[in-house]
Amino acid sequence: MVQIDEKIESMYQEVLKRNPGETEFHQAVLEVLESLGPVVAKHPEYLERKIIERICEPERQIIFRVPWQDDKGIVNINRGFRVEFSSALGPYKGGLRFHPSVYLGIIKFLGFEQIFKNSLTGLPIGGGKGGSDFDPKGKSDDEVMRFCQSFITELYRHLGEHTDVPAGDIGVGGREIGYMFGQYKRITNRYEPGVLTGKGLTWGGSLVRTEATGYGATFFVNEMLKARKDSFDGKICTVSGSGNVAIYTIEKITQLGGKCVACSDSNGVIYDEKGLDLDLIKRLKEVERRRIEEYVKTHSHAKYVPKGNIWDIPCQVAMPSATQNEINGHDATTLVKNGCIAVGEGANMPTTPEGVKVFLEAKIAYGPGKAANAGGVATSALEMQQNAGRDSWSFEYTEKKLEDIMINIHRNCFETAEEYGAPGNYVLGANICGFIKVANAMVAHGLI
Ligand code: GLU
Repeated sequence: MVQIDEKIESMYQEVLKRNPGETEFHQAVLEVLESLGPVVAKHPEYLERKIIERICEPERQIIFRVPWQDDKGIVNINRGFRVEFSSALGPYKGGLRFHPSVYLGIIKFLGFEQIFKNSLTGLPIGGGKGGSDFDPKGKSDDEVMRFCQSFITELYRHLGEHTDVPAGDIGVGGREIGYMFGQYKRITNRYEPGVLTGKGLTWGGSLVRTEATGYGATFFVNEMLKARKDSFDGKICTVSGSGNVAIYTIEKITQLGGKCVACSDSNGVIYDEKGLDLDLIKRLKEVERRRIEEYVKTHSHAKYVPKGNIWDIPCQVAMPSATQNEINGHDATTLVKNGCIAVGEGANMPTTPEGVKVFLEAKIAYGPGKAANAGGVATSALEMQQNAGRDSWSFEYTEKKLEDIMINIHRNCFETAEEYGAPGNYVLGANICGFIKVANAMVAHGLI
């Protein structure tokens, strides 16, 4: 790992002081700042204009009460967040996460990562993130609808197609986007499809958006493999999670000739030596909203390990697609020891700093989330383009665009890493490449 530059160290200390207790945010900031030493050496204007200090301070943070009634008529109170981090490259763009673990530190880590991820896509989108500590698990459709309506009744005043454009993240999919869009339309009296992405296909959504994060992450890994004169063909793969990102990662890996043998949820791990039955997983998770353990009810040859660790399963390609900090130093060591040659992060910051160190030292192909999972938000930007042009593109056309974007991101990260003397280090490449574009826009916009 590159040592943190002295000037930048004091900026990081300031971030710690100003944002006490927000450990995930600290982690995300440190990872980026560690890469920036050689950048500020080349660009003293970034220091003069205090670009790094400004980037670490969100432009605006909104925290609000979300009251709603459950099916029994009982009143519940949750907390809502939207952190509008950077509008240097376009309107704030990033998902909403509904999960009981959500607090300001999680939203800020996600929003911070989003700035650089969105910059890497090459599309005109700024960075933001939001969500709530609401737990959708076990809630009825009506409860989810009432929650979403209450959430948007407060947040709508901060949104707009040129201002801030949320989408989904953990716990927020097509159903939730639908309820939020409906409430936004009702309050504002405007049919403004460009205000949210991840919409349904009959009312402004884009083909491929559902698949985009998983497909994109797989395209990215495919590029890393190609750069090493290798491919997915015949590779044994494990994909953590079983939500939207995991499902479409498994689908694309299979299309490219790999074999996915394991996936998981927060309760346990499924191992299917014959290769996962994706139709079944889709039905369980997308239609019936059940737990993954039900897989073995119809597939008795497969194994379900409650509280198991998916990273203990030998694989050649690992694609963490569940949540932050799911691979620690020990897991990373196990993966490398078991012959893993590539890791592509479908989730945001799924590897701890110790784990990242292990992957970089082992010189395996390691694609960090802000590069590897940028296909989701990139396709959101394609959805915005279609909305602005009152157009809708075919699946093939949109998927090709997504693939080209991922190929470009890979190339830019790869070349930037070489330029800065760290060939093969996609962490450094992604951080520097994502940062420079935002920094230049900030210099151009003056002190704001
Ligand atoms: N939540 C996704 C991400 O982490 C997608 C955001 C979006 O589409 O705006 O990038």
